Amino acid sequence: MLKKQSMSPSRGTVQAVKSISFTYVSSQQLSSLFEDFRLMCNDAIRIANKEKPRNRFNLIELAYARLKQYGLHTHYILSACEVAYSVYSNKRRKCVPYIKRAFLKLDNQSYQLNHLLSRIPTNPRNFVFLALQGSDYHMSFVDDPNLKKGSVTITERSVCISFTREVPALEHFGCMGIDINERNITVSTTNGFEHKFAELGEVVEIKERYREIMAKISKNTRGDGRICKKLLTKYGKREERRTTQRIHKPTNEIVSYARANRLGIKMERLKGIRKLYRKGNGQTKSFRGRMNSWVFGETQRQVDHKARWEGVPDWFVNPRGSSSNCPDCGSRVVRLADRKVYCPACDRTWDRDVLASRNIMACVVPQARPSKGSNEVERGDDDSNPLNRWGEGSVAVDNNRQGTGT
Ligand SMILES: [Zn+2]
Repeated sequence: MLKKQSMSPSRGTVQAVKSISFTYVSSQQLSSLFEDFRLMCNDAIRIANKEKPRNRFNLIELAYARLKQYGLHTHYILSACEVAYSVYSNKRRKCVPYIKRAFLKLDNQSYQLNHLLSRIPTNPRNFVFLALQGSDYHMSFVDDPNLKKGSVTITERSVCISFTREVPALEHFGCMGIDINERNITVSTTNGFEHKFAELGEVVEIKERYREIMAKISKNTRGDGRICKKLLTKYGKREERRTTQRIHKPTNEIVSYARANRLGIKMERLKGIRKLYRKGNGQTKSFRGRMNSWVFGETQRQVDHKARWEGVPDWFVNPRGSSSNCPDCGSRVVRLADRKVYCPACDRTWDRDVLASRNIMACVVPQARPSKGSNEVERGDDDSNPLNRWGEGSVAVDNNRQGTGT
């Protein structure tokens, strides 16, 4: 399980955060802690809503006296205010937030982790001990002295600990372009390596199967909304686990290849592409369903996070024109059947996916932007290619004009 990460201000190193989830046996004592923490969060939200704090620390000042009455360790007050402030300040929320789920969060100062035994405070001078269960993979994080431990989130089923790692940024001598399609991931590198990963085809089949299962569930449970929801959640989660698991294999291979060959990774910025497949765009329902279950986001997320964890640089580039121009001469290609394209200028037939990945590989990234006066242009930002590769020219996509780094 991976989570957000950030570039550290010091140049040359990258800070990556990974959160690792452990299973454990829950106890009665914890359920009352969960309930208290939930009430504390909701109290803090109520205070935030009334007093309108400017930041988290302001909320702590306002809510401290009220939350102290719960008699828990002071760190719970700080965490409850942090949780409350983050949901309160969420710009997209539509109503006053309310926390229903049982969980608790603690900062890295308040808990201890010794091998797989974790100690968390309850009241002042009292503690709960949790025996975590983990595989060798989990152990490698716990016992690694180079990793810093971050906050811990405990739910009824799992203990999730975040680990921070500072890695020196990899000095890269070449680039790798990744083109993500519905059924494959195509990779081209500056050292001449080309490969198509077919795992996304399996993902498409899984998604198709589950779509049928879901349709059957909603048809057969028409009279009972609760059962329907329960079953849909169950199968939805199962589908998610099966698909993300399939994507890990190619993304692992891609990142380890890039690291071994000292390559930077370039991917298309595909944010906003779902707009193309909305209701009312004149497409069939099944086509929209298929395109909207395309797993490019998860694939890119995995590549991005794994690359960061290894210190491999990665960029998102503008996808415009990436499958309509020849990567060798830049002229317009003609589309043929079977996902093939033909360049009249070079008299050469290309595989469409390989062509796209080579174009992405050749994209100029902001760090290497040519100086003023140079006659090079960023490929894809050239206004002579009005067609973008998604809509066959029919739908305009509002994407960022420049490919910028993360
Ligand atoms: Zn050409």
